[in-house]
Amino acid sequence: MSLLRARTAVSPLRRRFEAAEPVLPRVDDLVAVERPEEPMHCLRPAVIAAASAGFVQGFPGKTLYAVKCNPEPGVLRAVWEGGVRHFDCASAAEVALVRTLFPEAEIHFMHPVKSRGAIREAWSRHGVRDFVLDTADELAKIVAETGGGEGELGLVVRLALPKGRAVYDLSGKFGAAPEEAVALLRAARPQAKRLGLSFHVGSQCLDPLAWREALALAGQVIRAAGVAVEIVDVGGGFPVAYEDATPLPLGAFFAEIEAGFEALALPGAELWAEPGRALVAAGGSVVVQVQQRRGDALYVNDGIYGALSDAGLPGFAFPVRLIRPEGEVAEGRRGFMLFGPTCDSADRMNGPFWLPEDVREGDWIEIGQLGAYGACLRTGFNGFDRARLVEVRDAPLL
Ligand SMILES: *Cc1c(COP(=O)(O)O)cnc(C)c1O
Repeated sequence: MSLLRARTAVSPLRRRFEAAEPVLPRVDDLVAVERPEEPMHCLRPAVIAAASAGFVQGFPGKTLYAVKCNPEPGVLRAVWEGGVRHFDCASAAEVALVRTLFPEAEIHFMHPVKSRGAIREAWSRHGVRDFVLDTADELAKIVAETGGGEGELGLVVRLALPKGRAVYDLSGKFGAAPEEAVALLRAARPQAKRLGLSFHVGSQCLDPLAWREALALAGQVIRAAGVAVEIVDVGGGFPVAYEDATPLPLGAFFAEIEAGFEALALPGAELWAEPGRALVAAGGSVVVQVQQRRGDALYVNDGIYGALSDAGLPGFAFPVRLIRPEGEVAEGRRGFMLFGPTCDSADRMNGPFWLPEDVREGDWIEIGQLGAYGACLRTGFNGFDRARLVEVRDAPLL
């Protein structure tokens, strides 16, 4: 079946077939024909394109896709298809990948700590003009490696937020405290063609008020700095549904952000967002095979060192469904835990994952909402680095 492609965890997928794709297959049909003994990653390009289009049309500003969330070329193409033209990159490799795929993309280098070589390459080879910083050292580095910026530099100061409410709190690592951010805005102003302030509330943040509060803090910093600011970047963190989470619609978040931004009264300033998860989570799943059953524990061929990192300690409740191409399936349901294939006893996912009570060796399980922070976190640990990648036309599991 020509749509199936194999790859290892660490090498990029090469497209072997560029011809216009026929109608995409369904997951169940592929499993029935291929009977995959390796994890099978299923991309739903139409789902990603629709989610991206929804965000671009609903967000009252510019949408930058956070590439780290899923850098698969098929995903990037679907995001582009949905109307995204701006990309939040955090490494030289991400910058080069996006530039190769989309010569016209606007790329923003949003990692607060960059190597000098990465800055130089982004600036001179890939036409990147916007860079984030949260220290005076990084400001000096950016100015030096871009030859003073030649009057074209966009500089965005990353503001630290107090520990927040997101499932993944990211307040501990990056960001300048408010007083430092004031000083950085003043120091960066003379170097910048356009100056911005950014923050990130943390990932899978279910509370729209988190953005309202962060915008209020951003406003205090901008007023204290007393310099003109052209960009306010509200970061990512927009939530998606899991079995145990049904977030408010994105419109509720956009409304808070719009109101919070208007309250800052910054005429001429642009609003940016850096969504990752919200654009791509529903557009990816992985099909694993049961290799052994021991009571309520299923030993499957993917785990926390593969695409299921967030099902481990973070304990995300991913939706699941059983695929048994032939034979009946029991009516009753039961909660199972999963063990991944590596020898590490930490390679377990407690779930519970609700499946038919007669799950047995040889069955397949599709695990959904894995388009974000799934396949991109895979490692080659213990030799379990083989997986398949296929594009399908199925609806998302949730
Ligand atoms: C990871 C990250 C994002 C994307 O976060 P999501 O929760 O996937 O939306 C955006 N901005 C920054 C700075 C990040 O680190």
